[in-house]
Amino acid sequence: MSPARTNTKTGKPFDVAIAGGGVIGGAIAMELAREGLHVAVFDRQKPGQEASWASAGIISPAPENPGMIATVELAKRSAALYPGFVALVEELSGQTTGYRRKGTLEALFSRDAKEELSTIIALHHGLGLKAEPLRAEDARDLEPALSDELEAAVLRPDEASIDNRLLTAAIFEAAHCSGAEIFPASRVTGIWREGSRCRGLLLENEKVETKWTVIAAGCFSATLEGVSAYAPVKPAKGQMIALRADTLQIERVLWSENVYLVPRNDGRILAGATVEYVGFDKRVTAGGIEKVLAGAIELAPGLKDARLEETWAGLRPDSADHLPILGPTDLAGLVMATGHFRSGILLTPVTARLIREWITEQKVSTDWDRFSPLRFQSAAAGVSRHAPA
Ligand SMILES: Cc1cc2nc3c(=O)[nH]c(=O)nc-3n(C[C@H](O)[C@H](O)[C@H](O)COP(=O)(O)OP(=O)(O)OC[C@H]3O[C@@H](n4cnc5c(N)ncnc54)[C@H](O)[C@@H]3O)c2cc1C
Repeated sequence: MSPARTNTKTGKPFDVAIAGGGVIGGAIAMELAREGLHVAVFDRQKPGQEASWASAGIISPAPENPGMIATVELAKRSAALYPGFVALVEELSGQTTGYRRKGTLEALFSRDAKEELSTIIALHHGLGLKAEPLRAEDARDLEPALSDELEAAVLRPDEASIDNRLLTAAIFEAAHCSGAEIFPASRVTGIWREGSRCRGLLLENEKVETKWTVIAAGCFSATLEGVSAYAPVKPAKGQMIALRADTLQIERVLWSENVYLVPRNDGRILAGATVEYVGFDKRVTAGGIEKVLAGAIELAPGLKDARLEETWAGLRPDSADHLPILGPTDLAGLVMATGHFRSGILLTPVTARLIREWITEQKVSTDWDRFSPLRFQSAAAGVSRHAPA
C-alpha cells in the first residue's frame, strides 16, 4: 500500500476525511472547512450523482407516516436553518439553488375528508407545525390545477422546496472555496481501524490518516468494510418524472396519498415517487412510471397534456427503523452521518451543523441520542442503551 494521502497544499494529514460526496458529505465538509479544519471528501465518482441528484428536494418537517414523528424536532430545526444555510451556500459558491419558500398543500380526496382533515390539523398542531384547513374551493383558488374531485386540503404555508441538483453542486463549490479538498474517482473500501480507534479511511491503494473520519456514503455506507454494524443501511429506490406543461401553473408543492408534485423555477414539474426495495437497482420501469403518472394526473388532471421531459430513479439510504444515523461510534474518531432515507435534503443543514459541533466541541446543541449509530448494536445484543445502571 502506498503512503497515506495528505493535504495537497500543506503536505500534512487531514483533520477530517469524509467518505461520500452527496449533499450530506458536501455540507459537512463546507461547515468544517469554514472552521479552519483541513477536510477531504472522497467519492468513488463525481460527487452529487446519487440520491442527492435523484431527489425531489421537498423541505417539509411534517411526518408522512407515524414512524417519522421521531424526526420532527430535528426536521423543524433543519427547516428553520434553511434560509441562512441557502444564503451562505449561494454567497460562497456564487450559484443559485432554486430555494422556493412557497408552502405545500396536501390534497384530500376521500369521502371522510372532513374527519381526516381535523385529525391531520390536530396532529400538526400537536407537533408544533403550522397547518391550515382549506375547503376544496379555497384550495383550488390557490392552486387551480387541482382536481375537481378534491374534498379538502391542508396548507402548510412555511414549507419549501429546493432544486437538489443545483444545491448539491453549489455546496461542493462552497466547500471547495472554503478550503475543503474534493477527490472524485476515489473509492473508499473501508475504515482504517487500530484497536479501539479509527485512524482514517482505506482507499483502493492507499490510506488516509485523519483525526476524524465521517461516513456519509448514503445507501452504500454499509458496503464499506467495518461500517455495517454502525450503519446497516439499505437502498430504497424511488422513480421520478419531470414534466413540462405550457398551460398549467403550480406554485406550491402538492401532495396526495399517492404522489407529490414539485414545481421548479425553470418551469418543470417533478412528480414522484415510488418506494421499492429492490437492491442497488436504478432502472426506470414501466410499472413505476405508470404509478407515478397516474397519481400525478389524478391530482392535477391538466398534466395529461404535459410533455414528459425526463425519468430517473435514485436510491434513498434507509435504516432498519427508518431514522437517520448520526453521531459518534464506539471507535474513537469515527462518526456516522447517513440513513437520511426520504429526508436527506431537508435534514442537510442540521446534520452538517451537528457533525461540525461534535467534531469541533464534542457536544451538540440538539439531543441526537435517538439517532445514535450504537442503537443497532444494542438491538443486536438485546440490551437497551437507555436502561438504568
Ligand atoms: C426519488 C427520491 C426522492 C427524494 N425526495 C426527497 C425530498 O423530497 N426531500 C428530502 O429531504 N429528501 C428526499 N430524498 C432523500 C434524499 O435525496 C437523500 O436522503 C439524500 O440525498 C442522501 O444524501 P447522502 O449524501 O447521504 O447520499 P447520496 O447522495 O447517495 O451520496 C452518497 C455518495 O457516496 C458515494 N459513495 C458510495 N460508495 C462510495 C465508496 N465506496 N467510496 C466513496 N464514495 C462512495 C456516492 O457516489 C455518492 O456520491 C429523495 C430521494 C430519492 C431517491
